[in-house]
Amino acid sequence: MKKILIGMIAMLFSVLALAQNGNTKLKFTKISNTIYSYTTYHLFSGNPFPSNSAYLVTNKGVVLFDTPWDETQFQPLLDSIEKKHNKKVIMCIATHFHDDRSAGLEYFANKGIATYTSKYTKELSVKNGNKIAQHTFEKDTVFNVGGYRFETFYPGEGHTRDNIVIWFPKEKFLYGGCFIKSVENNSLGNIADANVEAWDESVIKLMEKYPSPKYVLPGHFKGSKGNKALKHTLKLLQKNGD
Ligand SMILES: [Zn+2]
Repeated sequence: MKKILIGMIAMLFSVLALAQNGNTKLKFTKISNTIYSYTTYHLFSGNPFPSNSAYLVTNKGVVLFDTPWDETQFQPLLDSIEKKHNKKVIMCIATHFHDDRSAGLEYFANKGIATYTSKYTKELSVKNGNKIAQHTFEKDTVFNVGGYRFETFYPGEGHTRDNIVIWFPKEKFLYGGCFIKSVENNSLGNIADANVEAWDESVIKLMEKYPSPKYVLPGHFKGSKGNKALKHTLKLLQKNGD
């Protein structure tokens, strides 16, 4: 009896450890009643580096904005969303060609999810050997899915030449992706494909387009209220130009 009990306790601990382990790989944050963000981690220079994506829950199903960076989390993400909201993922839009946005496009398409990027992103993905979406849009596009409206906006070159953002007019939520830097991040990050000369002008254009966001989520590290992250990104760029 004692042995069985010890065995059971050991099993319980390993299950708990697994659950905890799972949590550190895929973390969910509620932004509004219908919008969530999640974070996955990818080894970068030997250390786990966090990456944010978002999703919208509609009557027709769930829309993803970007894919997990960590490919071990493609299926766990779909499973967790289905369990949490009792809805299937039906659509995914990636906001630029880097793999922290696009890695899961092919996997999701194979699961019957309609995948989208801008035409420009597709061109750069092809050139760089990254995953491509099934569908493309050429200009800023308004999507209406299951009673919800959101729009893509191309502010100009910045983190990459193709980076777009997503705006949710009802919530005044701006999904900035890697074009926007978190207030807790004091570096411009990976600028290998950036246009740091044009980036500040593009941020100003974005601030003019959406002057009063309630909440802004960047591609990495935490989001913030109001336009703090936009101002912070501008400051980093101006410092960089000095
Ligand atoms: Zn990124």
